[in-house]
Amino acid sequence: MLTVDSLTVDYSGIIALDGVSLRAQEGAITSLIGANGAGKSTVLKSISGLLSPRIGQIGFNGETISGLAPDEIVRRGICHVPEGRGLFPYMSVLDNLLVGAHLRRDPAGIRDDLDKVFHYFPMLKDHRYRIARNFSGGQQQMIAIGRGIMARPRFYLFDEPSIGLAPLIVRDVLNTIARMARDEKCGVLLVEQNANLALDISSDAYVMELGHIIMAGDAKDLKSNEDVKKAYLGI
Ligand code: ATP
Repeated sequence: MLTVDSLTVDYSGIIALDGVSLRAQEGAITSLIGANGAGKSTVLKSISGLLSPRIGQIGFNGETISGLAPDEIVRRGICHVPEGRGLFPYMSVLDNLLVGAHLRRDPAGIRDDLDKVFHYFPMLKDHRYRIARNFSGGQQQMIAIGRGIMARPRFYLFDEPSIGLAPLIVRDVLNTIARMARDEKCGVLLVEQNANLALDISSDAYVMELGHIIMAGDAKDLKSNEDVKKAYLGI
């Protein structure tokens, strides 16, 4: 289980998170929804060690991980698939995928996981020697998710996986994340602008506003909550 307790983070004195606490189980998808600037990405960056919390604690499977370097957090089994994908545009699909495995020393396992990526995204296999910049936004998102799989994590942090994608592709990408979580029994903390779809594939969710968690609970219950509907679901 991933635990975040009383997390407070500031950017040069400006408070971005103020006492955020949440729980996310392995084998389940937990969504974090909220308006732009609410602090969702800051939560993910704090968990993956890209930002240091001023106050608070982050734990994974009973061990404290706050304060550890990002590579050590990857070694503990947490993988951050960032907003904007962060691919190397002039490297091939295959090399971008292998970047995800750079901390591993098990060639056979790496080969198995490459097969797994090609199972979820067959088109990446067909075009694995093409450079990443020549792919569409949706295809680049597949590469970014595939790179995450190559780290063989126990827990994924997805930041806006659907950003910039056509509506049909958005559903595809989120369904693949759901299928992966189910097949691999890994955990997912999902930040997603499309709150409707995010809640559909999640078991639990948290709603953030201005650096605070303002609501939490079963994703289905939140989806039918009138305040959530009005503020975040456009219903
Ligand atoms: P979005 O949905 O727009 O990505 P978010 O909920 O992920 O928003 P964050 O990116 O976590 O929000 O930002 C939380 C707050 O911290 C915002 O007020 C933002 O302006 C501020 N912030 C984020 N990154 C920085 C930074 N590098 N320097 C200063 N302030 C920042």
